[in-house]
Amino acid sequence: MNCLQYIKKCYQNLRQKREGPEESYRLSTQESEVRKKKTLVLDLDETLVHCEFKENQNFNYETILDVWHRGMLYNVYLCRRPYLREFLKQMSVYYEIIIFTAGYESYCDKVLQFIDLDKHISDYYARSNCIFVNGNCLKDLTILDRPLDQLIFIDNNPNAFDLQPDNGLLIPSFLDSDEDECLLRLIPFLKFMANKSAVKPVNQFLKDYETTHGSLFSDTHITLQCHIDGEEASLNEESCIIMDDTPKHRKTQTLMHHQSKGKQVQEARSQSLFSG
Ligand SMILES: [Mg+2]
Repeated sequence: MNCLQYIKKCYQNLRQKREGPEESYRLSTQESEVRKKKTLVLDLDETLVHCEFKENQNFNYETILDVWHRGMLYNVYLCRRPYLREFLKQMSVYYEIIIFTAGYESYCDKVLQFIDLDKHISDYYARSNCIFVNGNCLKDLTILDRPLDQLIFIDNNPNAFDLQPDNGLLIPSFLDSDEDECLLRLIPFLKFMANKSAVKPVNQFLKDYETTHGSLFSDTHITLQCHIDGEEASLNEESCIIMDDTPKHRKTQTLMHHQSKGKQVQEARSQSLFSG
């Protein structure tokens, strides 16, 4: 070992001592690898799950969650959207997955514990992070501190996209249909998008994709317009209005439609305590 090599070796030893063990470097490398992934932001209610807060014989729920909120215990009747587990598993390979919901933190926490057993979701933002304007819930993606040209945001409420419309992808609302395939159909499109250098505007990419692959959601029409009344402190602030007059994705909704015989079905829903 010549003099120069000896000095270099001493310098490397000193630097290693100062910067700590090699494991911490590996950890930071892994974290930076995660940050290299694109970001998939997902709404919760009527996008990944549907929940109600009263027992409903027409609602085909999977489980009942106990949710404590401001000293009160709520029974939350929950149904996952079909293919949710597979969707999260496959998407976590390509994207960092973050939930952005208008539901309360207490509710979101419980729902995620149930739907994300495999821990594919890295973080969530809840009602306190939403902006409410004239009863509409807006979600500002800049608070996530992720590059917006690397971010896709999927929500069933078009108002949620108002602040960054180029990132938004509107998905039909899920209620409790076993036949719903929206998440399954999204998988190949989102894999396709994962290879793009930038994903904005998402809707333009979707249009181009659909010209060769067909429409993703052509036979699914339900739109729920979520409206939030009053102050945030109230649990009964929110009511969802079913906008579509020919619902195809809800047993109970179909029943309501037959009863009303109206052009537009409007009914305050029991899931409105937390969801959005
Ligand atoms: Mg929603």
